[in-house]
Amino acid sequence: MKKISLLGATGSIGIQTLDIIREHPGEFRLAAMSIGKNIELARKIIVEFQPELVSVQNYSDFDTLKAEFPHTNFTYGDEGIIEAAIYEKADILVNAVLGSVGLNPTLQAIECGKTIAIANKETLVTAGHLVMEAARRNYVSLLPVDSEHSAIFQSLQGEREKNIERLILTASGGSFRDRTRNELEQVTVEEALNHPNWSMGAKITIDSATMMNKGLEVIEAHWLFNLPYEKIDVLLHKESIIHSMVEFHDSSIIAQLGTPDMRVPIQYALTYPERIPLPSGHRLDLAKIGQLHFQEMDLSRFRCLHFAYEAGRAGGTMPTVLNAANETAVAAFLEGKIRFLQIEDLVEKALDNHQAINYPSLSTIQEVDKETRQYVQSLL
Ligand code: MG
Repeated sequence: MKKISLLGATGSIGIQTLDIIREHPGEFRLAAMSIGKNIELARKIIVEFQPELVSVQNYSDFDTLKAEFPHTNFTYGDEGIIEAAIYEKADILVNAVLGSVGLNPTLQAIECGKTIAIANKETLVTAGHLVMEAARRNYVSLLPVDSEHSAIFQSLQGEREKNIERLILTASGGSFRDRTRNELEQVTVEEALNHPNWSMGAKITIDSATMMNKGLEVIEAHWLFNLPYEKIDVLLHKESIIHSMVEFHDSSIIAQLGTPDMRVPIQYALTYPERIPLPSGHRLDLAKIGQLHFQEMDLSRFRCLHFAYEAGRAGGTMPTVLNAANETAVAAFLEGKIRFLQIEDLVEKALDNHQAINYPSLSTIQEVDKETRQYVQSLL
């Protein structure tokens, strides 16, 4: 029985992680969880899964829930999420929170020697060097949950790092893959939230439409697989059947395929190196699909992907700025404050405005993150 601490339980990845726990009551148990503000859903999860420890964002929600569930331990705020992350009875931490707020809990859990299933890509983007260094020092495994990185991780089983020629991350193209830049001027929040293949949260769906999601994933891959940016390519593949590939020196390519179902990579991270059935999942029927399509990625069409490569190559605090500016701009778009294409304008301005600091400490990263958010806010 594996005991799980789940950060971000009411988000898209969180809910799908709970699906897996529900389908395998003999394999997994929810030991601890953190949520943001969705206490309606938190109540249902507490009743069904009976976690021992629950962290919420606000004191008032903490107070309310504590009175309702006297047999559950509650905690709250920044300290609370760390308590849930390092909960001693949990064997594995699933970090599915959104944004760079996931960084500190991840670092603390690594220092406690926890195995981490990492769905929170912003953590690796904003402070990849700190996270990977801490993981090495503590002999901690970081198991990818992102479907592309899980695909690469699966393709690398039994292989040697030194034999890798390049990684090929596939990209569905998001909600607007068939639109020109002109047509993107006036797109609405509703249109942007309508992803053709994957069921995901709002922020990542917008990131898919701007292609920033792929940019963040390129940086994530750089850290997870210890490869330079010139060895990480992106390929448009609209069916989302090949989840990513690895090319080796001898020209062989190994890919991982499947239906677009996030529960598969989540479950693989939880059972690694074992595999168990996912009864409610759908098997891939290639004969039915018939054809798969591939297309070169156009970096002038998707400027956010270009910015991500630039920020990744520049290193230091540049990826922190990229991520913080993007989080702020996407939130503003979702609130109807800016137009779709202004997301990339704001990211560009924030990057231009920043002088990279090399090998930043955690406090420098947090400072730059905060300054960038304030800078982007000031432009709105
Ligand atoms: Mg992904």
